[in-house]
Amino acid sequence: MWFALFILALAAAIGIHFWWRASFQARQRQARADIETFQRRQQQTTIDAKAQQQVLFNSMLEGLLLLDRNQRIYLANRAFKSLFAIQAELRGKTIMEALRIHELAELVRRVENEGQVFDYEVQLARLTERRLQVNAAAIRNSAGEREGTILVFHDLTRLKKLERTREEFVANVSHELRTPLSLIKGYVETLLDGARNNPETLERFLKIIERNAQRLDLLIQDLLTISALESGRVTLELHTVDLRALVEKVFNDFRQAASGKGVSLINQMPELTVNADVHRLEQVFANLLDNAIKYGRANGEVTVGAKQAGGSVEVFVRDNGPGIPPESLDRVFERFYRVDKARSREQGGTGLGLSIVKHIVQAHGGDVRVESTLGQGAIFSFTLPVMANKG
Ligand code: ADP
Repeated sequence: MWFALFILALAAAIGIHFWWRASFQARQRQARADIETFQRRQQQTTIDAKAQQQVLFNSMLEGLLLLDRNQRIYLANRAFKSLFAIQAELRGKTIMEALRIHELAELVRRVENEGQVFDYEVQLARLTERRLQVNAAAIRNSAGEREGTILVFHDLTRLKKLERTREEFVANVSHELRTPLSLIKGYVETLLDGARNNPETLERFLKIIERNAQRLDLLIQDLLTISALESGRVTLELHTVDLRALVEKVFNDFRQAASGKGVSLINQMPELTVNADVHRLEQVFANLLDNAIKYGRANGEVTVGAKQAGGSVEVFVRDNGPGIPPESLDRVFERFYRVDKARSREQGGTGLGLSIVKHIVQAHGGDVRVESTLGQGAIFSFTLPVMANKG
């Protein structure tokens, strides 16, 4: 009896032992699996964070350079590489090894002493004259120890170019305004000094004054138009425009100027309608026609017509005057550009007419171009989206 009980107890103990061992091993396996899952997740989180960081750095418009505590490159984003036109791997290199720019190496040394340097400008003459602004700062850990350096590069090239264009524009405008103004001033002074006593001189001088005052007025009008068009403040009022009728209307306005020079105006415009701002389009025709008469030859011809190609209409204004030299063809649409300055001024030109034409056509979604053979005339063409063909 006691023996049987002993055997039973022993069997139970052995059973419990194996059950406990099996469940202990299962718990251990589970714990290991849990640890592995946790480690995998952590690794994934680190990889995700790094990938996110990389995406973030690479999406920045500014060039970013991170240096470690030994001043070696730890990270250079995509914008940085494109600013410096570098494809090679930069990790681990010093600034001098990677870029060979003493000024930047010097800047990093300054950051070491000063903690940060803002608004530092570098000119990269080697690389298409780029101008960069650099902001640099030391990176410190929570204990205040230096961990590295961060440098942010901002491309100022476009901004500087815009600034130069603006300065040139202001200088041009001042010059254009000053010329008629000083003429007016000069003639008024001469009249006041006694020239007014001669009726013939008085009449002649007053006419010069009147012409220059008109030129000033025209220049100011053109300047206001250009500034409105360039700032995008102009909203087009699009309506159906009958091109042939519009050309006829503009011809009527120029009939006198044309006949004064013996120029024939020929309307070859087919029956076409476009979706356009009629007043702006009238200005385009007026500027091109004015030029064709002004710069065309005496007793010549000015023809306006169009052809339809696909979804757009190509309008042309053609003269048979002296034409435009090839080296000026690309430049005539620039503000204040003139092939012959004296001739343009003498004709009362502002140098802004074709620039206004270009802006208006582009605002309609079209394009302008010019072709010319010296001695045979010039053809100015522009495209417009077509609406319907009545002819
Ligand atoms: P402007 O007020 O001087 O006429 P535009 O911008 O209208 O200014 O024209 C720029 C320059 O292009 C003119 O000064 C002239 O030299 C040249 N030009 C324009 N149209 C013609 C043309 N039909 N034939 C020859 N030259 C032209």
